[in-house]
Amino acid sequence: MSPAKYVYFFGGGKADGNAAMKNLLGGKGANLAEMGKLGIPVPPGFTITTEVCSHYYANKRQYPATLKAELNKAIGKMEKLMGMNFDDTTNPLLVSVRSGARSSMPGMMETVLNVGLTSKTIPGLIAKTGNERFVYDAYRRLMMMYSDVVMEKAAGIELAHGGGIREQLEHEMQRVKNAKGVSLDTQLDVNDLKTLCDSFKAIIKKVIGKEFPDDSYEQLWGGIHAVFASWMGKRAVSYRRIEGIPEEWGTAVSVQAMVFGNMGDTSATGVAFTRNPATGEDVFFGEWLPNAQGEDVVAGIRTPLPLNKRTKGEDQAAVQSLEEAMPALYKQLDGIQQTLEKHYKDMQDIEFTIQEGTLYMLQTRVGKRNGQSAIRMAVNMVESKLIDKETAISRVKPEQLDELLHPSVDPIAEKKAGVLAKGLPAGPGGACGQIVFTADDAAEWAKQGKKVILVRKETSPEDVHGMHVAQAILTAKGGMTSHAALVARGWGRCCIVGCGTLDVNASTKTMSVNGKTLREGDYITLNGSKGLVYEGQLSLLPADPEHNLWYKKLMTWVDKVRRLNVRTNADTPKDAAQAILFGAEGIGLTRTEHMFFGPDRIGAMREMIVAQTRETREKALAKLLPFQRDDFYGIFKAMAGKPVTIRLLDPPLHEFLPQTEPETATLAVELGITVEALKARISQLHELNPMLGHRGCRLGIAYPEITTMQARAIFEAAAMLTKEKIKVLPEVMVPLVSTLAEFKHQEVLIRNAAALVMKEQGVRFKYLVGTMIEIPRAALTANEIARDAEFFSFGTNDLTQMTFGFSRDDVGGFLPYYLESKILAVDPFQTIDQTGVGELIQMGVERGRSTRPDLKVGICGEHGGEPASVKFCHRVRMNYVSCSPFRVPIARLAAAHAMIEEKAKTAAKKPAVKKAAKKTKAAKKTAKKAAAKKSTKSIRSIKSMKKPAKKATKKPVKKGRK
Ligand code: ADP
Ligand code: MG
Ligand code: MG
Repeated sequence: MSPAKYVYFFGGGKADGNAAMKNLLGGKGANLAEMGKLGIPVPPGFTITTEVCSHYYANKRQYPATLKAELNKAIGKMEKLMGMNFDDTTNPLLVSVRSGARSSMPGMMETVLNVGLTSKTIPGLIAKTGNERFVYDAYRRLMMMYSDVVMEKAAGIELAHGGGIREQLEHEMQRVKNAKGVSLDTQLDVNDLKTLCDSFKAIIKKVIGKEFPDDSYEQLWGGIHAVFASWMGKRAVSYRRIEGIPEEWGTAVSVQAMVFGNMGDTSATGVAFTRNPATGEDVFFGEWLPNAQGEDVVAGIRTPLPLNKRTKGEDQAAVQSLEEAMPALYKQLDGIQQTLEKHYKDMQDIEFTIQEGTLYMLQTRVGKRNGQSAIRMAVNMVESKLIDKETAISRVKPEQLDELLHPSVDPIAEKKAGVLAKGLPAGPGGACGQIVFTADDAAEWAKQGKKVILVRKETSPEDVHGMHVAQAILTAKGGMTSHAALVARGWGRCCIVGCGTLDVNASTKTMSVNGKTLREGDYITLNGSKGLVYEGQLSLLPADPEHNLWYKKLMTWVDKVRRLNVRTNADTPKDAAQAILFGAEGIGLTRTEHMFFGPDRIGAMREMIVAQTRETREKALAKLLPFQRDDFYGIFKAMAGKPVTIRLLDPPLHEFLPQTEPETATLAVELGITVEALKARISQLHELNPMLGHRGCRLGIAYPEITTMQARAIFEAAAMLTKEKIKVLPEVMVPLVSTLAEFKHQEVLIRNAAALVMKEQGVRFKYLVGTMIEIPRAALTANEIARDAEFFSFGTNDLTQMTFGFSRDDVGGFLPYYLESKILAVDPFQTIDQTGVGELIQMGVERGRSTRPDLKVGICGEHGGEPASVKFCHRVRMNYVSCSPFRVPIARLAAAHAMIEEKAKTAAKKPAVKKAAKKTKAAKKTAKKAAAKKSTKSIRSIKSMKKPAKKATKKPVKKGRK
């Protein structure tokens, strides 16, 4: 057996790796290899695999024994291709040491450029380039990066905030610039840079206590070590947590021959996107800087220039685009970007450098984008036949749709308000909040429930935790490809960057702009679509996806793909109408108790509750009936024949009673009883554990007249509409059932009411009677309950509460500890606990259908709009999910994703089993997992052995959508 391969070479039109090897080579390494193979000019280099990273952490930060020899061989190859030698006195080759995880983590990890500059190689490079200024500029950059990344961070030295080596060196450079009276790095001449390098060395020695290494190989290994160490760095760890990237993935390290964008006016560097990532428009879009090294563009140190004429901003007429400055090179670059997009079939985010008139590509990756542009690009790419519809659907994440449903600044309010400042529109949408100046403050204020806008000179990867909780981000510096813009875009955050007139002072926590000073806590409003900043709180308009043609088109495809129907939870005709606009196919839950709280109704409700006799109770109920009937009438009408599930009264009655003394006194007068009598009744209703007390169907069993009244109100409304020739489909739902007998008791009352109303009104209409499954016993006995119940709706809030034994209302006391100590990975009230609660659900569905194969099954808990839960509901073959109106589009998309994933899984099933048989450790693990899955499946099918169940699960649920 040949020894493990740890180093993958690329260069000279060949590569050991390719784009598919992201897990091993990281995204950057895999794509460098792929570009090399495509014949795109890429400086040669090699990638050290992520396996080395795992080895490094598993073996006390030691490398595999064979790594060094492999690396030296790769350097030899690189030297040959470049015609230069690493650590050479006459013709020295410099390299970059670059990090690269599987999925990109912008700026989270470390990269060191210009490695290999030492007192031994410097004279040779000067002689060869004849450009002494360039060499010292490269040297001071090496020192800045290396001392920060390798000598400070990777060594685990925590220098006091603001006292870090990088800041100190930057400070020194600023001092030299000030002394000279210049503002740009490029204005420093060779002598300035030489002196600067000397003082850098002295500062490093003083601050870190170690000499800056003067040995090429020491620098190289130091850089490699630093990249691996950065995987466990604070910022990388926190970014991974937010993005859900597993720690085991590890990072790869790419070592690559340096090319220089800072060799003078025929050199340049830039970052570009094959389409505009903020709007999705199909136009080559990017930024560049003449005479600069790569990091200058991204770091926002100098404000970059637009790439082409077409994408120049309003006030950029005078600045030179690359297209104008270097037309031939621009044309070449444009050709390459087209090749890349066609090859990868997706929008690419690319890095390039021009060294003395020669173009080199340094990176390509799938570009991050916000929701709006994700949708636009996906649809455009289908239209131009680059991708198919299912790919387009898969490319839009549910969270990205959410962004589209986000607010924008009211244009009328905007017109009235004077613009405070203008910057670059890096992340669209509107946001309003209080200014904070540090990421820590943002996190702190957000914790207190405040809406904040994070204002920074420029953001750095250290700020991500604050950016994540902020409503929006505003920076004074940086371009459309700056760190802030990139990260905000990834999260769909409203963001404005490069707002040059802002003077941000984080230490005094103030910002001044055009003579005005704003402080921490002051309100501002941002229009991220236009890059406009306003003082104060401007009103925001709700999102309006209905006018977005790309969105509408995508959603028609989504609706064709998905099997699961999507309904909404709505208690009013207005909510119902909104939900229909969002694509709801029915109502999965109408909570009738909300209808009793209106000021005109609560009186009658209370009268009903305190009634001591059936007679008085019925009198009060009679007052409530017309209200309920009107409500149902409005909702049925809005839904125009779509199914409407109405849940009978559910909460414990004491919730409707007054809580305070004066209120009690007033009510006693209203009811014509003594305060004592009222108090006695209230205390009678008091329960120690109301969530498990007298609620749900238990109310209707104790007071059948409540059920009868509600049923009558529903059916009278149905009769009225039927007479008006408007279709209705009421589904009456009994809550909190745990036995068939409970359900039967209620069912009789409901069916009697229906029969009576139909007879009285002389009309007929269809209706269903079903139940919620929200008590474990109901799920366990679903086969019995389904004998009578015509539909099930899983109430996953209560079901989660009762399965875990976690009181929904008290969970705040301990859940944070559970999440922190990873006892629970996620909050089960937000996403279905698939292993536990999910098992009950699956059992409920299967057992229910074993008795009644055409049983309609849905979910109406909060989980119904949460993407992972929606996918689960698809897998257990529910007919529909129901969620709040604003989540309906998200649920539709998630349902389509579930279908696409299911298809892919079925298609991939056989080869996956084959792979698992291979002998590698990893493969064995997957095999084990697969086996485990299989066995749980077979347990499940044993549980539901009854033949009809099998049939029911196999048979595809027919599309009941109208
Ligand atoms: P990140 O992942 O943070 O983007 P990169 O490894 O891409 O880090 O490198 C940072 C910057 O340095 C980029 O602008 C990149 O283009 C530039 N760079 C990296 N390697 C080289 C190289 N061999 N020659 C010239 N520039 C380079
Ligand atoms: Mg990069
Ligand atoms: Mg419930």
